[in-house]
Formats: sequence, C-alpha cells, structure tokens
Amino acid sequence: MTRTMPATPARPAAAAAGPLDLARVRAEFPILAEPVRGGRLAYLDNAATSQKPESVLRALDDYYRHKNSNVHRAVHDLAERATTAYEGARDRIAAFLGAAREEIVFTRGTTESINLVAYSHLLPLLQPGDEILLTGMEHHSNIVPWQLVAAQKGARVVAAPVTDRGELDFEAWRRMLGERTRLAAFNHVSNSLGTINPVAAMVREAHARGIPALVDGAQAIAHLAVDVRALDVDFYACSSHKAYGPTGFGALYAKRRHLEAMAPWQGGGDMIRTVSFEGSTWNDVPYKFEAGTPDIAGAIGFAAALDYIQAQGLERIGAHEHALLAEGTARLEQIPGLRLIGTAAEKAGILSFVMDCAHPQDVGTILDQEGVAVRTGHHCTMPLMQRFAVPATVRASLAVYNGSDDLQQLERALHKVRRLFG
Ligand code: PMP
Repeated sequence: MTRTMPATPARPAAAAAGPLDLARVRAEFPILAEPVRGGRLAYLDNAATSQKPESVLRALDDYYRHKNSNVHRAVHDLAERATTAYEGARDRIAAFLGAAREEIVFTRGTTESINLVAYSHLLPLLQPGDEILLTGMEHHSNIVPWQLVAAQKGARVVAAPVTDRGELDFEAWRRMLGERTRLAAFNHVSNSLGTINPVAAMVREAHARGIPALVDGAQAIAHLAVDVRALDVDFYACSSHKAYGPTGFGALYAKRRHLEAMAPWQGGGDMIRTVSFEGSTWNDVPYKFEAGTPDIAGAIGFAAALDYIQAQGLERIGAHEHALLAEGTARLEQIPGLRLIGTAAEKAGILSFVMDCAHPQDVGTILDQEGVAVRTGHHCTMPLMQRFAVPATVRASLAVYNGSDDLQQLERALHKVRRLFG
C-alpha cells in the first residue's frame, strides 16, 4: 500500500489585523442572502451547525472536479492528488489544534470521536464499580457512549452539579474525582448554556489523581483558541460542521501513547498491515482507527474551514461574538417574562432562554415566521433541562457573520411573540 505524504504541510493563512469587516465576511457566505419566509434571514442556529464560506464550497467543488479518487491505494496521478490533499488536511487540522499529525484520527464528528474513546480506550480498562465522571451540562453524545460501555462492565456514570448560573460546581466536581474514576469527560463550551468550562484546571486536577481527561470541543474550536498540548488533555473531540466545514466529518485528538495502546474499533480496509485467515496485524496510528474509504472531501473541506477561521483570527472572531453576546443579553433582558438560562461569567455566544407566555416550540415557530432561525428543544442535554426545571429552551447562537441587525430582528420577533401569546 502506498501512502503519499504531502511534501510541505499546508500553512495556516495569516490572520488579518483590525476589527472584523462584517459586510465582507457576510459576502463570503452565499446562504446568508437566501430569502426565508419571503424575508431576510437572521441565522442564529450556529451551535447546531454553522454556514459555509465560499472558500469551503470551492475546496469541496475543486476536490470532486480535479482530484477525486480513493486515497492511499493507488499510484496514479489522481490518487496522489487526493491523498496529498487528504493527508495535507490532517497536517492542517493537527496544526490548528497544536497536535502532531499521528495524533489526529479522522471521524464522522464529535459523537464518533467520543464513541471511539469509549470503546477502544475505556471499555477494556473498566472494572465493576469504576466511575466515569461527567458534568451536569454534557451533550447526550458525551453521556450515552459512557453509559453503554459502563453497562457492559458494571461501572457507572456520575455527573457533577451545575450552579444556578449554569457554571460547573468546580469544588463538587473536584471532590467527585475519586479512587474509582477511570476517566473525566467534560465539554469545553456548553451547547445549551454557552458556559466556557475551566478545562485547563480540570485536566490538571484529573491528572493530579492519575485520571485521563477527555474534552468535548464541539462548541469550542470555532470560537476559542485550542492548544491540546498546552491543555495537556488526553483526548479532544471536535466536529467540522460547527466550525464552517462540511457535515459528517470531525476529528479525535488523542495522545500518541493512548492511540498506540488502544485496540482498533472497526475492522476493514486501510486499518491493517497484514491480513490472513489466521489473524491480522494493524496499521500505524492513526490509520489503525480509520477503516474503509474515508470522507475525503470532508477532510479537505474541514481544513479549508480552519484556514478560514485562521484568516479571520480567533481573537477577532471571539471579540466580535463577545460584543454581540453582551448586546444580545442586554436586549433579551429588556423583554418582560423572558428568563435567560445560563449566565456564567465565562460565556461563549449562546443565548438560551424561556418565556413565561409561550412554550419554546411556539416561540421558535413565530421567530421562524420572522426569518429568525433558532433552535428550540432540549438541545440533546436532557439532564441539564431537568436541572433547570424546563422542558426546553429557545437558543440563539452566534457566529462570525452575525451582527446587531440579527439581534434586532430577534428582539422584534420576540415582541411579536409577546403580542400574540402575552
Ligand atoms: N457535544 C456538543 C457540546 C455539541 O454541541 C454537539 C452537537 N450539538 C455534539 C457534542 C455532537 O456533535 P456531532 O453531532 O457533530 O457529532
């Protein structure tokens, strides 16, 4: 089997200086000009998935027009182009996260990344009575995989409490790191509350007790600078589609020593070194975990998306979104009968709320009529909804292309909800 490595790793685009040019940013996202319900779109459902810039669309198109072939398997020109682009994407993603290329496993996204760790890393180590420590604000994809493996071994999943502001009760979490804890798993940014967790301190605390840590970075990588080496985290999971890239693709960062020790979790082509009917041997990491033909375009699109983020600059994106979060919070606080859920001191651009006059589903329907795209429901965090004693929330979530006009459109639509239901 040939494995063509790119001669030179893809270089991150230089970050531009100065404030964000919103008109220019918006011009790069063609879908934002799409009329919805006959009017202007205010897209505020970015925590579910973000829109894609021209550069990502072009990278996907270019791949299928000029490079499409299978990777790693042939010596012809197109196979070489596809492999170079695909492995170049691995270099790009590794550089973005501060990892080595061997530590980046391509997956279908955060969910698959966490499942991989659950089955390949944790399951063989678990003993009856062992614990997996979570927080009360985890997404179902950072709860259910652990429950599945725990059930097989008589282990259990425990979760640390969340305060009324939607922050982790850090002291309680720390006390729950115990003799039986085999892994601590927590999100970097809560998708329902926007809370930014103190992940560096959490990793330190876990490591001080010899416990590995997994961070769910689904809501972080498009908004905060992430350096897995500086965090010293064992596993970091992320998705392309929440960071301006295509759906169905993502990555797992894992320390090399973990990947070396882990058994493959899916068998098939490309993950093997040799196969005979008596037995098989495994390819090097990370390929040992990548059975079958991968989502080649997904990798290339994800790398283009990270280039886009880098070109805008995470600091600039963060400042822009933070200013909008402050403005949005102030606007929503003025609306009678509206209650924000999640008011942490450290917050990313997520505004979750309930209204006393209408169910979140009805609020969402009226907002949609006004061209405002938000998410309503439990956001795959049912335990958190129980914690706040609400069936669901309305969630407006921000991205680089949002502006004050989107927040004003949201505010006007919420006043309409009050007129109709209040
Ligand atoms: N974790 C968090 C915090 C999320 O917000 C999401 C997506 N809503 C996931 C995990 C799962 O991501 P994906 O569906 O891309 O696998």
